Amino acid sequence: MKRLGIPPDINSAQKTKSVKVSPPGSKSRELLARMKKVIGRSNYFGLYGITLVGGEGAYVIDLDGNVYLDCLAAASCNLLGYSYHQVADVYYQVAKTLQNSCFPYSPNPQAVELAEHLIRITPGDYPKKVLLGLSGSDACDGAIQAMRKYTHKFALIKFKNDYHGSTGFSQAASGFRTLNVGIFPTSPNFITMDYPVTLQQRDKVLKKIEQTLAKGQVGAVMAESIQGDAGIHVPYPGFFPRLRELLARYNALLIIDEVQSGMGRTGKWWAISHEDVVPDLLVTAKGLSAGYAPISALVGREEVIDALAPAQHLFTYTGHPPSAAVASKVIQLIESNNLIANAEGVGARILEGLKQVKDAFPQVVTEVRGRGLMIGVEINLSNNKLAGKLFATRCVEKGVYVGYFGVNQEVLRIEPPLILSDSEADLVINTIYEVAEEMSADLIPQTTIDKVHQYAIGL
Ligand code: PMP
Repeated sequence: MKRLGIPPDINSAQKTKSVKVSPPGSKSRELLARMKKVIGRSNYFGLYGITLVGGEGAYVIDLDGNVYLDCLAAASCNLLGYSYHQVADVYYQVAKTLQNSCFPYSPNPQAVELAEHLIRITPGDYPKKVLLGLSGSDACDGAIQAMRKYTHKFALIKFKNDYHGSTGFSQAASGFRTLNVGIFPTSPNFITMDYPVTLQQRDKVLKKIEQTLAKGQVGAVMAESIQGDAGIHVPYPGFFPRLRELLARYNALLIIDEVQSGMGRTGKWWAISHEDVVPDLLVTAKGLSAGYAPISALVGREEVIDALAPAQHLFTYTGHPPSAAVASKVIQLIESNNLIANAEGVGARILEGLKQVKDAFPQVVTEVRGRGLMIGVEINLSNNKLAGKLFATRCVEKGVYVGYFGVNQEVLRIEPPLILSDSEADLVINTIYEVAEEMSADLIPQTTIDKVHQYAIGL
């Protein structure tokens, strides 16, 4: 089947899945043992104990030589798939010439060009500026800092189970699981609301937000435009447009976190644009560099961004020239290869196929939801609280590298590279069908169950 808009060198590199060694194989297990001796446990919450070492097209390869169709894309980063040398070459060419300029002391053309691209592709006709960083977490921190400096208000409305990062403010703004335990005392400056996915919730939450805004302490609402790590929750239609109106009325800002949902994944550059909503500040990272470099950006209203004084939000590696050049190249390639349209089309195909799986096995799959290539498959945990991990592990054994997340690790994460073809989409659907069939007939092998106990941690 023809790959839509895929660069020719990826086409020729097309592989097929092939799992010859039961994962994690002995080499992966050996590395895992070495890793545990030297890396602190906060850095690792592995899904399968597998070590990835390479990839081609939409396929990843592990240390034991297994080849999987990649539906995780390094946590939604690797938008262009693997071994796409044009991007690596851009990094290499710039790194050979000027690996860092320390932007805070001396600008460089690559970072300025990237900021120009970001201003062009983000929503909002108002004067905009950009602050560059290294991770989604730091850009979310910057957004909260800028909001406080600009509005002179300290309180932020956030959402239950949102994930914004693991640094100071971004962690405090996250409502995901137990992240803040033992680090942040409960603060009246971070006010939690439910993320509304039904009509009733939408109207209730908007009412509560309005009551809170009326007290005059809140400077902004910060939200994921589609919740990612919480297990793919799409907000009920009309929520963001009505929130936008409320915030304008109460002089508070809208901060939208597009770290996971942005860069074309949902079939538009930014998921918030599905509702035609223009935020005041937008955060992007992950796919911004298609996984080639750690880089993030906070884009928004000039007056809000420039409320921060020099050095209030900067890093020695801010605007790192090779990373910025890579991000500009990624934006150009997404555009020239129509990858946003591909994400929309192939994503709709997967969503439709998976809804049929749900209809065939409703006792196993409770819900399928998402937009474009940001898809979640909720597994029924009522008979087995490990069923989500088990389902995902079985998919991996069959060569489809899905992730899993959600508050109870109940949701399969389908966030593949945007280059996925129709035939690869069908492979994903068929594999999930096979596993649902096995699970409904209670035919999951004991070895898979043992692996889940041994290796599956998950966020
Ligand atoms: N926001 C969202 C929506 C995310 O999904 C993540 C990462 N999972 C972050 C922020 C934090 O990004 P990073 O890990 O690059 O700091």
